[in-house]
Amino acid sequence: MTVKIAVLPGDGIGKEIVDETLKVFDTLNRHFDLNAEWEEAAIGGAAYDEAGDPYPEATQKLVKQSDAVLLGAVGGPKWEPLDKPLRPEAGLLRIREDLGLFANYRPAKVHDQLLNASTLKPEVIQGVDILVVRELVSGIYFGQPRGIETLPNGEKRGYNTLAYKTSEIERIARKAFEAARLRSNRVCSIDKANVLESAEYWREVVTALHAAEYSDVELSHMYVDNAAMQLVRNPKQFDVIVTTNMFGDILSDEASMLTGSIGMLPSASIGEDFAMYEPIHGSAPDIAGQNMANPLATILSGAMMLRFSLGREDLAEKVEKAVENTLNAGIYTVDLAEGGASVSCSGMGDAVCKELEALA
Ligand code: ATP
Ligand code: MG
Repeated sequence: MTVKIAVLPGDGIGKEIVDETLKVFDTLNRHFDLNAEWEEAAIGGAAYDEAGDPYPEATQKLVKQSDAVLLGAVGGPKWEPLDKPLRPEAGLLRIREDLGLFANYRPAKVHDQLLNASTLKPEVIQGVDILVVRELVSGIYFGQPRGIETLPNGEKRGYNTLAYKTSEIERIARKAFEAARLRSNRVCSIDKANVLESAEYWREVVTALHAAEYSDVELSHMYVDNAAMQLVRNPKQFDVIVTTNMFGDILSDEASMLTGSIGMLPSASIGEDFAMYEPIHGSAPDIAGQNMANPLATILSGAMMLRFSLGREDLAEKVEKAVENTLNAGIYTVDLAEGGASVSCSGMGDAVCKELEALA
C-alpha cells in the first residue's frame, strides 16, 4: 500500500532539515518494505512570498489528500514587519486548526551520548524517556467567556474560562493510553483536582475511561505543582504524561529541557483524521542556508509519523536505532559538540541513512 506524505519545508533551516528526513524515507523505500511518496507545498514566509498567504489554498488541498504532514519550521526576521494574519506563524496556527489537531505529543528522551548537555546531574536524567501528551484545542486557552472588562466601580478585570467537556477529555486520554501501550504501559494524568472543578471532572473522566477500556495500562494521578517538582527531582518515574492545554504547555517545555538539546526534539500533533509532525525548534534564521543545522529532530519526527500515522512501529524503531548508532559513532552537528561539529546537516542525514541500511 502506498502512503502519501505532504511535505511543508517552510522557512530558514526548514528546507535543509526536511531534505535530510526525506533521504531517510527514501532509504526506507529502497531497503525496507515502505512504499511512501511525497509532494511538497509552501507554508509560512515561503508561502507568503509565493502566494501572498502563509497557508495557501494549494497547501490546504494537498494536506487533506495526504496520510500525514511533515513540517520543517516557519518564520524569520524578513516577515516580522507584516500584519499578524500574514506572518508565517499565522500559517502554523491555521493548519493546526484546519486539521483539528487536538493532541500534541512531545517526547523527551535523554540520549546517553548527550548526558552532559543537560544542566541536571547525569544520574538523574540517564534513561529518561517521557512522552507528554498535551490537549491542544480546548481548556483555558480557548474557553469562553474571556476578556478584559471594566467593573461598575471603574476597576478593570481580565478573565478566562477553564472548561473541559467529557468528549474532549476522553479523546485525549484515549491517545495517551494508546501511546502507553506502545511504550512502558504507564500513564500519569496531571491536574489540579484539589482546587479546580474542571480538573476534578478531568480526573473523573480519565478514571472512568481507564476502567472501561484501558485497565491493562497502569494509571496514576498527580497534582501539577508536584509534577513540576517531580520532573526535575526524579524524571525517570514518568512514562506517558497526559494533561490539559496550559499545564501541558508548561510541563512539555520543562520536560524537553531535561534533554538539553533543542536540535534533537521531535513532536507530533494529531487529530481525528489528520496528523502533522515537526521538530520543536524554530527556523533558526541565524544558521539557515549554511548546511549546519541538526536534522535529527525532524528525522525523529519522521519516526513518530511511522509509529502514529503509518502504522509502522517496526520502522519507527529502526530509524530511532539508526539515530542512536550515529550518535554512538561520535557523529555530531555543531549544536551537539562543544569543540565543533564533525558533520554538516547533510552529513548527518547521510550518516543516519548509512546506519539504517546496516539494519536492513
Ligand atoms: P520559534 O520559531 O519556535 O519561536 P526561536 O526563534 O525561539 O523559535 P529557534 O529558531 O528554535 O528559536 O532557534 C533558537 C536557537 O537554537 C538558535 O540559535 C538556533 O540556531 C538554534 N537551533 C534551533 N534549531 C536548531 C537545529 N536544528 N540545529 C542547530 N541549531 C538549532
Ligand atoms: Mg524562530
